[in-house]
Amino acid sequence: MSEKPKIHVLDLNFQGIAEVTAVYLIVGPDGPILIETGPGSTLNTLLSQLRRHGFAPEQIKHVLVTHIHLDHAGAAGWWAQQGAQIYVHSFGARHLIAPEKLLASAQRIYGDKMDSLWGEMVPAPAEKVTEVFDNDVLAVAGLKITALETPGHARHHHVFVIGDVAFTGDAAGVHLPGFGLPDIPTPPPEFDLEAWESTLDRLLAHNFSAIYPTHFGLVADAQAHLLAVKGVMQDTAVFIQTQMQAGLDREAILAAHENRFANRARTAGLSEEAIVHYAAANPLYMSVDGIMRYWQKRAQG
Ligand SMILES: [Zn+2]
Repeated sequence: MSEKPKIHVLDLNFQGIAEVTAVYLIVGPDGPILIETGPGSTLNTLLSQLRRHGFAPEQIKHVLVTHIHLDHAGAAGWWAQQGAQIYVHSFGARHLIAPEKLLASAQRIYGDKMDSLWGEMVPAPAEKVTEVFDNDVLAVAGLKITALETPGHARHHHVFVIGDVAFTGDAAGVHLPGFGLPDIPTPPPEFDLEAWESTLDRLLAHNFSAIYPTHFGLVADAQAHLLAVKGVMQDTAVFIQTQMQAGLDREAILAAHENRFANRARTAGLSEEAIVHYAAANPLYMSVDGIMRYWQKRAQG
């Protein structure tokens, strides 16, 4: 039976906004590990947060990433070059070792905002990358951490479970502290409605006492949040499908989606500032593109 680890939420202050993107510092019986790395653009913030908790970078020997999107794993190569072992989904491993394809794909989504958003992504030495598979139990820092295959947001996604707590990456959607509005990041090209519904059911079946989405921090009522995410995802997917069937183009659908999101947010009591925070954690155009692409693929069989 392993000791209960200490969980620290490190705020990357992504794009100068507090509490939208986290790295989790877990201190086990045998030392500290990280879950997620954040992007290269926030590496200095991460290092100063680590120091604030009394740790030097060279004490981090193990780094787990839920998936290889840049806000989660952009700095993984840097950590690997420092000697840390990186644990990543088997589909994602090669993209950390040779990030060119991943960066080209991000370039298509983010264009000239690439550098300011994500900073540098350096390659990880191959021997520093461990491929992770469904139900693997990772023994690191005196902890036992179980990886759950959790596709839907991306095909290459794991949720990491320690005891009755889960670090959910993007698989349990977005939940920003103080606002409490569940939201779904559905980027192209891999958003998959059915796969994600199964993932949410898998997470619900665990009945976690708490979850930690990367965006952002502790969600104490895991079950209510997961159910709410499932509802928002289904509603949003159907809403966009209906707009597409009505013959609206991408710009019109995006405007309708933005409107709908702002109304949902205001109804939930969010300020205009809070709406901006959500857009930083989860750009709405990305979700529209992801869901449209999903329905187009479905229509093509
Ligand atoms: Zn992601």
